[in-house]
Amino acid sequence: MDASRRQQYLDAMGIPRYVMREPPAADPSSGVAGAGGSTPAAPESGNPGTDATERQSAWAALRAEVASCTACELHASRTQTVFGVGNESAQLMIVGEAPGAEEDRQGEPFVGRAGQLLNAMLHAIGLAREAVYIANILKCRPPGNRNPTAEEVAKCQPFLVRQLSLVKPKVMLAVGGVAAHNLLHTDEAVGRLRNRIHSYGEDRIPLLVTYHPAYLLRRPEEKAKVWQDLQKLHGMLHGD
Ligand code: URA
Repeated sequence: MDASRRQQYLDAMGIPRYVMREPPAADPSSGVAGAGGSTPAAPESGNPGTDATERQSAWAALRAEVASCTACELHASRTQTVFGVGNESAQLMIVGEAPGAEEDRQGEPFVGRAGQLLNAMLHAIGLAREAVYIANILKCRPPGNRNPTAEEVAKCQPFLVRQLSLVKPKVMLAVGGVAAHNLLHTDEAVGRLRNRIHSYGEDRIPLLVTYHPAYLLRRPEEKAKVWQDLQKLHGMLHGD
C-alpha cells in the first residue's frame, strides 16, 4: 500500500500514526498482496486435486439451494438471500453475522457502512475485498437486524460449512460476537476471544476473532485493537 492510501486509512479509521506499525512486506509467492500491492492477485489455496468443473457445479448447486431456501421464517421477510462474495479460492475467509438492510437490498454481504469499514480494514493489510471470501452466519436478513435465533443458525449453518469446504481458506476471521460464538460454540466476549488463535472444524482452520465493523462505527476508540488483530492476521497469512 502506498503512503498516501495508508494515510487515508489511518484518517478513515481515526487512528493516530504512532499506534500503527507498517505491515511486513508480503511474500509474492503467497498470492496475497502485501503492503505494496494495490491489486492483489487471486490467491489459490491448497485444493489442487479438486476438478475445476466439479467445483463450479458444487458452487452453482449451493447458490441455487440458498436462493430457494425456505428452511426458516426469514425467507418470508427477505428481499433476497445474501450468499457470499469474493475469491472462491481465497486464503482468507471472513465470516460476519447476517445481512442488514442494504445487503438484503443488494444481495451482497457487507455493502453498507460497516462493509465500507471492513474494506478499509482489509486494505490496511494490503488485501482488496475481491481477494478474500466474505460470508455470513445467516443468508437472510433478520427483521430489524435482531440477533439470529439458535434455530435460524442451525438451519443456515450447513450452507456456510459447504462454502468453507469449497473455499478451503488458510485462515478465517470472525467479525463480531454472533460469528465468533456460533463458529466457536462459546459465549465468551469478543474482547476475550481476540488476541488468540482459535481453530475451526475438523480441519482445524486457524481462526481469529475481532470486533465487528458496525461495533467500531459506534465505538471508534476500539479501532486500535482491531489494527493489532489485523497485523496478527497479516502475519498468519504471510507466515511472519
Ligand atoms: N453485518 C454483517 O455481519 N454482515 C453483513 O453482511 C452486513 C452487516
